[in-house]
Amino acid sequence: MGKRTNSHRIGFKRLGQDSPVDEKILGVFKREEDLPKLCLNLLCEQRKTWPKLQEGYEWFKQIQERHLCCNGFSVRLQYNPGRLRSSTANVDDKNRSVESCFLCLDQLPPSQKGILYQDNFLILCNPMPIFPSHFTFSHLEHRYQSITEHISTFLHLTIHLGSAWIVLYNGPKCGASAPDHLHFQIVPSGQMPIEKEILEEKRRYLVKKQEGVSLFRIRDLWRELILLEGKESVPLEDAFKRYLAALKRVLDIDEEPMINIAGYRDRTTFRLLIFQRRKHRPDVFYKTGEERVVISPGVIDMGGLLITPVEKDFKRLNEMAVESIYQEVSMEPEKVKRALGMME
Ligand SMILES: [Zn+2]
Repeated sequence: MGKRTNSHRIGFKRLGQDSPVDEKILGVFKREEDLPKLCLNLLCEQRKTWPKLQEGYEWFKQIQERHLCCNGFSVRLQYNPGRLRSSTANVDDKNRSVESCFLCLDQLPPSQKGILYQDNFLILCNPMPIFPSHFTFSHLEHRYQSITEHISTFLHLTIHLGSAWIVLYNGPKCGASAPDHLHFQIVPSGQMPIEKEILEEKRRYLVKKQEGVSLFRIRDLWRELILLEGKESVPLEDAFKRYLAALKRVLDIDEEPMINIAGYRDRTTFRLLIFQRRKHRPDVFYKTGEERVVISPGVIDMGGLLITPVEKDFKRLNEMAVESIYQEVSMEPEKVKRALGMME
């Protein structure tokens, strides 16, 4: 994992002289089989050299989990006090600026380093982990969080990572901690209950099959989830874009509908999970005093691993509360049905 000169190729303009991009690169992705190894090496190295990451993984040792058996699905509650800041972060437009963007290269802490991926992205360690290894896949430039034009990169990343990893995306208004800076997350597979649930035949309602891509609506989750499955990335991208376009028409909006995405490649099959949302945080999040529940659902929470950074919430949340939170933040079923009907 030697240093190399990339600044001439990257042409990153916003960097100050004190933090050239080369100094941020601990490794460069070259071959498919190398990527998970490079990521794990990065984590190992960064845990020794970046104090904040060390601290984050110390917090992670203190997590506790509870299993909830809800009506039709299951959930793991994770008490993770290290996540308090990100769960309560103010992500409104007026509170953000390039200067305060924690994913911009010139704002990264001096000891934070990454893996350069295809000249445009940097893989970084997440200092507030939810999993034993948790990475951020961040664009080198400060550009808006949006999926349509980057779905191809998303799917190729799943190929390069292999089936032991999942790639995650949070829409700018429903879970992204840096809504102005394009980023995905990379986490180990097998951790979110939804991964098993989408494979259960009784839940999979096949809506359509076209060009080798199957589109399922997954039932009995108290959440709206569409699953796209296929072996080829191009028809899958195409189906994804057509569904998103139909959703926009139903919602009568130009911007990206509120969605969270999880994707992976299981041997030769791509699976793309699309959670459709109507709001980011449930009403209980905005209550005061005893009534407040700090829960701020992003893609991991929608996948059935619900993060509670406050201990009393972790202890008191029950099955009914979880079902109603999922229902409250998910898109109305009629809108999903209409979008499926309007899909070209
Ligand atoms: Zn940025």
